[in-house]
Amino acid sequence: MKVYKFGGASVKDAKGVQNVLHVLQTVGYTDTLLVISAMGKTTNALEMVIKHYFEKSNELNASLLEVKKYHYQILDELFNNEEHEVYFDVNNHFADLEYFIRSNKSPNYNFVYDQIVSYGEIISTTIVSHYFKAQGLTNNWLDVRNFVKTDTTYRDAVVDWNTTQELITKGVNRNALNITQGFLGSDPNSFTTTLGREGSDYTAAIFAYCLDAESVTIWKDVPGVLNADPRYFENATLLHQISYREAIELAFYGATVIHPKTLQPLQKKEIPLYVKSFVNPMLAGTSVSKGADLEPQTSCFIVKKNQLLLSLSSLDFSFIMEENISEIFALLHQFKIKVSLIQNTAISFSICIEDKFTNFEALKTILSQKFSVSYNENVSLYTIRHFDKAASELVEKDKTVLVKQISRETLQLVTKE
Ligand code: ADP
Ligand code: ASP
Ligand code: MG
Repeated sequence: MKVYKFGGASVKDAKGVQNVLHVLQTVGYTDTLLVISAMGKTTNALEMVIKHYFEKSNELNASLLEVKKYHYQILDELFNNEEHEVYFDVNNHFADLEYFIRSNKSPNYNFVYDQIVSYGEIISTTIVSHYFKAQGLTNNWLDVRNFVKTDTTYRDAVVDWNTTQELITKGVNRNALNITQGFLGSDPNSFTTTLGREGSDYTAAIFAYCLDAESVTIWKDVPGVLNADPRYFENATLLHQISYREAIELAFYGATVIHPKTLQPLQKKEIPLYVKSFVNPMLAGTSVSKGADLEPQTSCFIVKKNQLLLSLSSLDFSFIMEENISEIFALLHQFKIKVSLIQNTAISFSICIEDKFTNFEALKTILSQKFSVSYNENVSLYTIRHFDKAASELVEKDKTVLVKQISRETLQLVTKE
């Protein structure tokens, strides 16, 4: 069995959905499970709905209407018959969403976020599944929340692998075309959870692991994994083959083409991951598999924008040692703040962090009781794997370097533009 993941960019409009069908007709689709994301930037649009909901803003209805209009426009282009049952299903999903918004009593932001944002993938897969059926591709629409079980950490849920394995083994027909949602799961009380932004790649890996799939392919708007993010670097070139280790390092430091959590389950069972272009499905793309000898020789450039550089120093000139450091990390863990670079001296400690859940203010207040705290907002973290002199000069050009760290394979720079 194969697992294919199609992200938001691949189904951003009616042409995109038609192209996904074309990709399947080109590469084959029997015994396949498709994991599909919300269409285009729907998750961002639903985040606006959530923001307006919590702010009790007058914009709430307008932002919801925008999400509806976008999907009905795609529906109208794909089906020229408003009597088609897809309209009934999509109307129902929107009615459920509106009912939730009207009747919710929970003040828990993360819980409410997951209940609302999940409609993006539910509606997207409903449209794709009906469209494929209308085009003669029989398929099973699966509600992923009946398969991927998690704890109750809303917005960053942790998978319960045993239950998930059981449900997938029992419930997925291996001899059919299955369509399900990425990014979502459900907690023990069956409330919707999400696996973290951009988490659909991870969903594909979860299914592949539990199904012992022969491979996972994530279909992207780029030819594969490049040696640099083409949005920020010119002349990026394709990496034909990389090891799991290289891929996990690239993803961890910000190569957003693969979600970092995707690699571990695949690596455990040595399931190959292909990153391919949905524009040119016959091209080989990048293959990620076992083997240290697959490390790319070219320098790889990765950038994470919008990071925070936090520096702590002791108030009384005492050393920042194990005890302090473990306390600092416990707080970072508690506030779900991710660390991507650490540097320390005798009495100071600097970390480059990402505050995905807007908890930095709370963290700062606690740390200020014990340390002198300084920080730079909005810095960029550049990581160059397999760097050389030319590569580091290229990145340092025109930037103020706040921290520079060199290890055998990796050069990292925290910069202010
Ligand atoms: P999806 O549609 O699956 O959500 P994404 O937009 O998350 O896809 O991922 C694809 C994007 O990742 C590309 O358009 C590209 O801008 C970006 N990207 C970042 N780093 C890399 C890299 N090293 N190689 C290829 N693409 C990269
Ligand atoms: N739709 C979700 C997001 O945009 C998950 C994904 O696309 O991977 O974050
Ligand atoms: Mg994405």
